[in-house]
Amino acid sequence: MSALTPGWLAVAAGLMALLGGDATATPAASAGEAAATPMERADGSPTTKPSGERPPVIVISLDTLRADHVGAYGYERDTTPNLDSFARDAVLFQRAFTSGGGTLPAHMTLLTGLPPGVHGVTAQSGAVLPQGRVTLAEALGNVGYRTAGFTGAGYVRRQWGFQQGFDRFDDEGRGFEQILPKALRWLDRPDPRPPFLFLHTLDIHSDWERLPYDAPAPYRDRWVADDYSGSFDGCRDDLCASKLLAEMNQRARRGEIDLASYFTPEEVSYMRDLYDGGVAYTDARFGELMAALRERGLYEDALIVVVSDHGEEFLEHGLMLHEQIYDEIVRVPLLVKLPNDAHAGERVDALTAMMDILPTVLEVVGTETPAGVVGASLLPIVEGQSPGRSFVYVWGIPEKLRTRDWSLIRGEDTPPELYDTVRDPSEKTNVAATRPAVVHALSRQLDAIKLSQTPPHPKKNPKADLSPQVVDQLEALGYLRE
Ligand SMILES: [Zn+2]
Repeated sequence: MSALTPGWLAVAAGLMALLGGDATATPAASAGEAAATPMERADGSPTTKPSGERPPVIVISLDTLRADHVGAYGYERDTTPNLDSFARDAVLFQRAFTSGGGTLPAHMTLLTGLPPGVHGVTAQSGAVLPQGRVTLAEALGNVGYRTAGFTGAGYVRRQWGFQQGFDRFDDEGRGFEQILPKALRWLDRPDPRPPFLFLHTLDIHSDWERLPYDAPAPYRDRWVADDYSGSFDGCRDDLCASKLLAEMNQRARRGEIDLASYFTPEEVSYMRDLYDGGVAYTDARFGELMAALRERGLYEDALIVVVSDHGEEFLEHGLMLHEQIYDEIVRVPLLVKLPNDAHAGERVDALTAMMDILPTVLEVVGTETPAGVVGASLLPIVEGQSPGRSFVYVWGIPEKLRTRDWSLIRGEDTPPELYDTVRDPSEKTNVAATRPAVVHALSRQLDAIKLSQTPPHPKKNPKADLSPQVVDQLEALGYLRE
């Protein structure tokens, strides 16, 4: 029997408290209390909105964007002039982490405030979001918002319940080229209600036909060296793009090949250059969106959240794509522009989790966070009234516990890995053998978190409810492999 009783939950919460855990176990009450007390800005005006004058809310997920490939996060290339400009109007969270498990559970966490262990919607479970859960769209709809979601498809589809609470939900897109015109048409419809718009784009994600990252010209080749001489042109061994990379990841996991030999350093750089072209393209379209919002008078007052569901690896830890749980994949950009540019340009160093976004949005618009939400509003951190989390749990197999100083990675059949992220931010030197006490303490903390998160669904075949067309697309993106 896998379900945990309320008694177990209480035990877990108590254990968490003993271990110095924080919002992950029992934050719902604190988030609700915070929502009832509007935070004040330096000039004395409230950051949160009283009901009746709610701000436009726009949440944008730029799928597969690595935090450290964004200029505002310190990247040396000028990949993101528009995001960097936006960051000057926003609060930048320097240590934001996805909830883990890839695109599907991360987006469900974004839109429910629940970690994957609680919402249960993962590729492995094949489960659909239970209708009893309250989504961000439902919570905003309940206080008078009109709501629309336009996604790039892939895993962000109605099959898993992503449409729940949206007046309009369109999962027929791929990138900004498709979703931007539709979103702007929806915004332009006469309607007195404030809008909640959710946008998701796969423009940065690896491609499945020709090149592993295939942005439109002139962005695609912007950083590709004129004298690139690698033999890899997107295809090799009768496979191309995502299909090749996913297959070679599998062979590398089985020990059949070493990807650092299969691809030359120049070829890996080539792929990174192509990826950065996709980031630059996406940034340009993001800039168009921001300009369109300004033209419509929907920028200044708006609450705008920009986030990604995961990053991408270029052999930093031996593989490609986003299958592992090291920081290049689980640390994500998170920018929150508060209405009227409150706290504009500030940087927050505290650890933050994907599940904190929903309570943050609801606090800013001045409504209660639904019961059972596990995430906690980030506003008290922004206002200097809370130090934030002492750790973030990243779901998956393996799974990760990240504190400011340590990264513990724990698999089912593999020895734990421990990294000193102060001295070794790239997680290159496993110190588990020399720091057993740290491994032990973090493992107990991780166990307590898992006890507090009940998986709600029986497992079933994730392909069962998918059309052949969707299965093809997911496989081409590198998913649904055995
Ligand atoms: Zn994704």
